Amino acid sequence: MAALSKIAAERGIKYFLISFTDLFGVQRSKLVPAAAIDGMAKAGAGFAGFATWLDMTPADPDMFALPDPSSLIQLPWKPEVGWLAADPVMNGAPVPHGPRNLLKAQIAAAAEMGYQMKSGVECEYFLLTADGEAISDAGDTQTKPCYDQQALMRRYDVITEICDAMLLLGWNPYQNDHEDANGQFEMNWDYDDALVTADRHAFFKFMVKSIAEKHGLRATFMPKPFSTLTGNGCHTHVSLWKGKTNVFSDAKDELGLSGLGYQFIAGLLHHAPEIAAITNPTVNSYKRINAPRTTSGATWSPNSVTYTGNNRTHMIRIPDDGRFEFRLPDGSTNPYLMQAAILAAGLDGIRNARDPGKRLDINMYTHGHTVRNVKKLPLNLLDALRALEKSTMPKASLGEDFIAAYMKLKMQEWNDYSRHLSVWERESTLDC
Ligand SMILES: [Mg+2]
Repeated sequence: MAALSKIAAERGIKYFLISFTDLFGVQRSKLVPAAAIDGMAKAGAGFAGFATWLDMTPADPDMFALPDPSSLIQLPWKPEVGWLAADPVMNGAPVPHGPRNLLKAQIAAAAEMGYQMKSGVECEYFLLTADGEAISDAGDTQTKPCYDQQALMRRYDVITEICDAMLLLGWNPYQNDHEDANGQFEMNWDYDDALVTADRHAFFKFMVKSIAEKHGLRATFMPKPFSTLTGNGCHTHVSLWKGKTNVFSDAKDELGLSGLGYQFIAGLLHHAPEIAAITNPTVNSYKRINAPRTTSGATWSPNSVTYTGNNRTHMIRIPDDGRFEFRLPDGSTNPYLMQAAILAAGLDGIRNARDPGKRLDINMYTHGHTVRNVKKLPLNLLDALRALEKSTMPKASLGEDFIAAYMKLKMQEWNDYSRHLSVWERESTLDC
């Protein structure tokens, strides 16, 4: 690959964002002039790690974010800036709890077994007023707003600016729609290698927020911004490949999924309570997955650990041959940690030849209560974090350093939340 300074001169890039994603999914950057980029590409951009959501102290040495030149994306809405995903490095070694480092380690573990994961994500989001208080379109009031053509076209300028950007970047976007909540949208682009999808997922969130701001709006991926409306999922489609062969595909199976695919699913079912701490990492996440029915009629999110065929009321759906859809993750998940966790749990299923049991074909929203012995998802972030701490698989696969760092910062977050008095709490307890 040519030097970044040469690419900058050819494409008219004046500045580069050297961007890394911390444990809470926040993207942190240095804005570097093109004249300085070749030095930075070698040494990395310097950061004080403690000032971000990484488990570091103010006494730690400089942390460097080493840009990955193959991840370069020229901002379609500001072409003089190039975005580079970067990997945190300290004392000359990758930071073990750096999210992108963790995903790369899982990809390497899969490669050792001869596999390559491909994935696609469905990032739902709301367009809100600039202050974030309400949905931005006062006319978007249908009880069943999904696929509402009129509301979609009132946001044509924003949606097509984002879609045009994806077309320009070669992501092969293929559809955009109004989703199941008032003010909610979804845009789909092609699946790809896990790391490519993770970088695009991170960039997509940055892009949607930036373009929404340009139009005087605020985009949010918050799992459940309104208690009566459908929340923001991040449904993820997964397949495993050996070279050009999809090893999840088996024409002889009723649903078109191979034995290996069922083992991978079994790994996710087995470890769902603990990986929920990663796929559903915020206090608010648990208001999406354990929610009562919304005004549209369904939450579209799971509340139990089950799998099925082409039926959207379960945690795992097998819609088509050679892949499955994992419906647990939400909009607050870290793009890199989510895929690392999926891969770790799935590979554990393969290594231990786990059996997912018989699939359930019922409507879980209406008949979930009729099935016994179905594992429930955690009811809140604390339950999920406790499950994560207790389980041996994440420590063995993702590493003790990561689990210790993640537990520490997430427990701080839970404790902050616990100390906070809510309006509900006062109203329901004041007259006790
Ligand atoms: Mg959707």
